[in-house]
Amino acid sequence: MNVDLHCHSTASDGSLTPAELVKLAIEREVDLLSITDHDTLHAYHHGLDSLPINLVAGIELSTSWRKFDIHIVGLNIDVAHESILTAVQLQTDARNTRATRIADKLESVGIQDSLKGARIEAGGGQIGRLHFARYLVSIGAVKTIQQAFKKYLGKGKAGDVKTSWATMENIINWIEQAGGTAVLAHPVKYGLTWAKLKLLLTDFKNCNGKAIEVISGRQDKHVTSELASLANKYQFLSSCGSDFHVLNKAWAALGQVEKLPSGCLPVWEHW
Ligand code: AMP
Ligand code: MN
Ligand code: MN
Ligand code: MN
Repeated sequence: MNVDLHCHSTASDGSLTPAELVKLAIEREVDLLSITDHDTLHAYHHGLDSLPINLVAGIELSTSWRKFDIHIVGLNIDVAHESILTAVQLQTDARNTRATRIADKLESVGIQDSLKGARIEAGGGQIGRLHFARYLVSIGAVKTIQQAFKKYLGKGKAGDVKTSWATMENIINWIEQAGGTAVLAHPVKYGLTWAKLKLLLTDFKNCNGKAIEVISGRQDKHVTSELASLANKYQFLSSCGSDFHVLNKAWAALGQVEKLPSGCLPVWEHW
């Protein structure tokens, strides 16, 4: 099975439209795909149902856990369910409020018009820091997206603002109520020590989280085996996804995700 349960479209910060994404996934012979845009289900209002692919409805929701922004993927949800629509509305409000604050902070360090610029980059989709990063590159403030995060948007930089995302408990409840399965996204991408990660896994488990991404994009084999053993230890199901955003060699490729290690229980066999 070629499975990719985490990727982004133009509905959030990806560069392919939902239809282009599905077309590419079909070309790459993906058997099971989920488009998991940040805090929006807009991709699922694009008539994708008629396309010849096994598509499972998903979303990537941001949450605040201690001092960290943690991402939780909801898979196999009912996209019309009231609880997930509530979640999307609250998260959209949080993103819009944050975007205004990021722009104000950037203005104070001499970057003009970034809200307008980021909105144009977002093209009507859910706004995020990657759109600010693209704007910063477009005006020549930095050369690369990486630099934009390093200089302006990353932890402790001018555009790093505190955001009131929903709690982990609420996020997981909303996913569950919509019939979905809550998956902890890319566990090793938060800069947590292993000890802190174990604390996160414990809290996630206590909040009814069901699975973790044992594979996210391109990752070292030793990380995969470490995550597989954590999934086993905490009795989580396992998921895998590219976290694809753009067609660019530096990013993980859509539909080219390593297989889960044997011994992992695939989340798609148990939802
Ligand atoms: P947000 O959800 O708005 O806080 O933005 C998070 C998104 O920004 C991630 O999903 C990535 O798309 C992007 N991102 C975060 N850090 C980096 C980085 N260092 N380089 C490139 N993209 C990044
Ligand atoms: Mn993103
Ligand atoms: Mn993420
Ligand atoms: Mn993602």
